[in-house]
Amino acid sequence: MKKDFSRSGAAAQRKTAFIAPLRRCVRNLLLASVVFICFSASLAQTKPTRAHASMSPEAKALLEQAIGVVCTQAKLDPKSSIAIDEMQSRPSLPIHSPEARAGAERAQRLLPIAKDLVINSLRQLSTEYGVRKSRYFNLRLTQAIARVNSVKRVKPDMDSRDNASVYLSRPHVITFGTIFLAGLRSDEGMISVLAHELMHIADGDNDSLRILVRAVGNKASDLTGLDIHGQRSEEVACDLIGAMAARAYIASSPDYESIARRLARSIQHNCVDLDEGDEDHLSPRNTIRALLALNPGLVRELINDRF
Ligand SMILES: [Zn+2]
Repeated sequence: MKKDFSRSGAAAQRKTAFIAPLRRCVRNLLLASVVFICFSASLAQTKPTRAHASMSPEAKALLEQAIGVVCTQAKLDPKSSIAIDEMQSRPSLPIHSPEARAGAERAQRLLPIAKDLVINSLRQLSTEYGVRKSRYFNLRLTQAIARVNSVKRVKPDMDSRDNASVYLSRPHVITFGTIFLAGLRSDEGMISVLAHELMHIADGDNDSLRILVRAVGNKASDLTGLDIHGQRSEEVACDLIGAMAARAYIASSPDYESIARRLARSIQHNCVDLDEGDEDHLSPRNTIRALLALNPGLVRELINDRF
């Protein structure tokens, strides 16, 4: 089924974009006509099932230990992802620079794999959160998967710098800033970010997956004590799909590198020095905290694996 991303009436003239995974899924002030899906999440009306999960002090200590592994690897691993605050401080990179070209080739090569991994992760997460019992949700999920399958191309863009985005007027293309392409120096880091973008596309301009997204946000709030609602839920859900996709990729492609080092690459762009959030986004380090709280298997693998 082909899903039309454009809206009716005057709104159809606007472009809608998803920009990720930094503090970037916000209205772009340089393009006044751009409207982001990020702002419509609060319109959701369906009540999710609350998990009322909590974490023991031991689990919290393990989580902090795992964050230490992720951010230590950021300094040790030659293929680690550059922290987003550092990416933001770098000068623009020409499209034909070797680093940007290598990143673009990596992204295009991994796009089909990332699509499959996102679809599998989305199904898995939906089952895990009990939302597939709803016929309404299953229909939305089928449409979301069709949207993911329709993405065909990664377009490098110098002006996008450290952003990645999808314009609903061109839903088959993910636009990727060259700094971002160069800053994700591993397949694991790239798959995580591609999957984040694809999850925005899956959710679409009507927040089709809002039941799932809300449930993820509520559980993350319960586990961490952080306020993760509205747009923050969508960003965390996109990052969670990214981490799940990267983890599945690592499991299916064993190599000589340690699993923990590879896993760390999927979230370590959040190992910032300048740790600031806003109304729509957790701070990067709290993003890692929420992702690991939602994914205790990831915590175990990060801690137990030897380098
Ligand atoms: Zn995003």
